[in-house]
Amino acid sequence: MENEVNTLETVGLADVFCPFCGKQLPGRRSRYEDDQEAAEDAAAQCDCAEAREWRQIKIPRRNKAGDKEAMVLGVCRFCGQTMALSKVTLSETGLSARECASRLCGCPGAAGYQITLENEQARAEKLQEAYQNIEIMFLNRDDGQNMEAVTGIMMELVGMVYDEHLKKVSLQISAGVAAVIGRTASGSIRIEKKQKRVESAEV
Ligand SMILES: [Zn+2]
Ligand SMILES: [Zn+2]
Repeated sequence: MENEVNTLETVGLADVFCPFCGKQLPGRRSRYEDDQEAAEDAAAQCDCAEAREWRQIKIPRRNKAGDKEAMVLGVCRFCGQTMALSKVTLSETGLSARECASRLCGCPGAAGYQITLENEQARAEKLQEAYQNIEIMFLNRDDGQNMEAVTGIMMELVGMVYDEHLKKVSLQISAGVAAVIGRTASGSIRIEKKQKRVESAEV
């Protein structure tokens, strides 16, 4: 996917792209060391299945290299501290040395990153559940309406509601079907399908 320059963006943060699904996401750092780091920032926030798996990669306890093992130095992206990492660990996890060091480091920036990864994970899981429900509830309609486009918009709106940019959204999908996406008092996402059942007789 081409990296477009968003001229409306006044904050100066460039968009980043998920390395797994290509989704365009807002960059959260003012600068990246390289393309890989930009991709890692995208993977940290994307809600696709691969990005969710990537965030959950566990780094084995035995991350320090043994005597005979080849070592790689990883640099924590938050404090710049270097850490010796076993090459085996890196190839097992598939993480870059910098990502690995940034997940293992004990500095406040790295601790904050861990929390961010967990929050993004919780968000992605919640959105996936919402997507599944939207598909079940709204996708199977047989009257020529392009429901894939409609459910696509609904999924975007679920994200807006989850992030509290919107409190509640109502969509009149057809004459008799409406959707309401909102949050319950306990913070769950609530998706409602309102169907108007008209019973009438004409004689
Ligand atoms: Zn993705
Ligand atoms: Zn650090």
